[in-house]
Amino acid sequence: MSKRIIVVGAGAWGGWTAYHLQKSGCEVTLIDKQGPGNPWAGSGGKSRIIRLAYGGNKDYTDLTEESLKLWKHYSESWEEDLFHQKEALWLFREVPPTYAELSIPLMEKRGYCLAKEPIESLKERYPEINFSDITSAFIEPEAGYLEANRACEVVKDRFEHLGGKYIQANVIKLLQTDDQVEGVILDSGEKLSADYTILACGPWLSELVPAIRPYIHISRQEVYYFKAPSHFYNLPIWLEFRAADQMFYGIPDHFKEGFKFAYDERTWALDLNKDERGVTKEILHHMRKVLKNRFPELTNAEVLKHHTCVYENSRDGDFIIDKIPGCKKAIILAGSSGHGFKMGPAIGKLIADHVLEDKPIPSSLSLARFTKNAPRKSQYEVN
Ligand SMILES: Cc1cc2nc3c(=O)[nH]c(=O)nc-3n(C[C@H](O)[C@H](O)[C@H](O)COP(=O)(O)OP(=O)(O)OC[C@H]3O[C@@H](n4cnc5c(N)ncnc54)[C@H](O)[C@@H]3O)c2cc1C
Repeated sequence: MSKRIIVVGAGAWGGWTAYHLQKSGCEVTLIDKQGPGNPWAGSGGKSRIIRLAYGGNKDYTDLTEESLKLWKHYSESWEEDLFHQKEALWLFREVPPTYAELSIPLMEKRGYCLAKEPIESLKERYPEINFSDITSAFIEPEAGYLEANRACEVVKDRFEHLGGKYIQANVIKLLQTDDQVEGVILDSGEKLSADYTILACGPWLSELVPAIRPYIHISRQEVYYFKAPSHFYNLPIWLEFRAADQMFYGIPDHFKEGFKFAYDERTWALDLNKDERGVTKEILHHMRKVLKNRFPELTNAEVLKHHTCVYENSRDGDFIIDKIPGCKKAIILAGSSGHGFKMGPAIGKLIADHVLEDKPIPSSLSLARFTKNAPRKSQYEVN
């Protein structure tokens, strides 16, 4: 008999997990309270970067490489433009380029490239960019960006096409007997039981699994779209390292809708229970300073659009993929820490292989790795 599976959360991780399990012959129910890739979720918004440079982390390089192949494969076979190839320019501002250097051997082994570029030639190639404080630069030609909220919708539709059941509802509690998870309870009071329950609830996970709370912190991520001259559309995706916990990035030709510009810091908190998703003056000021320095022509650029999104960070910036402690048939997918979208297809496949074939989940993603009171880190800190 086929396994009955419930997946809560139709974001990048839950959607792909439901898809792969359904494709492998399970009877899957996917539940989301606000819809796939909704604006409040971690997968909300229009785009996400995919890059293979992962600072020498083999598990992530493997997951990203597999995902890149799957993104390309499904974009083609579903005839949906979900992946847009665009080279990425990695800039290091007065910090050693260790993250890039450690990435190179793992990428080359897989046939991908991250090439160190002389700053002088980049100055000529990209006159829009100020390189005066840049100490090293690299180009990753095979990077690109993914269509985020649309991909979540497409994956959900394809899942339904395979016979999967999608329910828009709020899961208010886990259905438990003898400390084991047997399914979920919806806000309507309906109880749904399953052989396996997979919780991919993003920032809301601790509402259902309070035991996860000590390992997670939520941060406010504001994304700005600035008006830029059309020659900016020719610029590559840009990622700028200032410190292990301070990075900025942009997609200059963002669907020709403006210059997408965001920060990868986890400094500002977000209260999920308050709808406070407007522009924060202090953040906009901070962003304008970086923009002015790197792209002087955009000093007074008009803000065309703004989106406040959310990072669900683990303490060390690495994902948490594990069983709920003590529960044999409940898996949590958590701590996507601002870099999980790209890996959705491979994570979904990993979970399907784990549930059906007992494929091990990398121990680097387990809850057991956390030591008490470990300091917070970002994913870019390499030792
Ligand atoms: C601004 C920003 C930029 C980013 N940039 C990148 C990038 O360039 N590249 C990259 O790879 N990653 C990036 N990320 C990270 C990436 O987007 C996230 O890691 C990923 O989308 C998380 O997906 P998820 O499925 O875990 O969670 P979510 O997308 O948050 O999905 C969780 C879902 O669960 C549902 N849910 C929660 N609780 C319940 C409940 N009780 N009942 C029913 N449904 C429930 C929610 O409605 C939601 O849809 C970025 C994130 C942000 C915010």
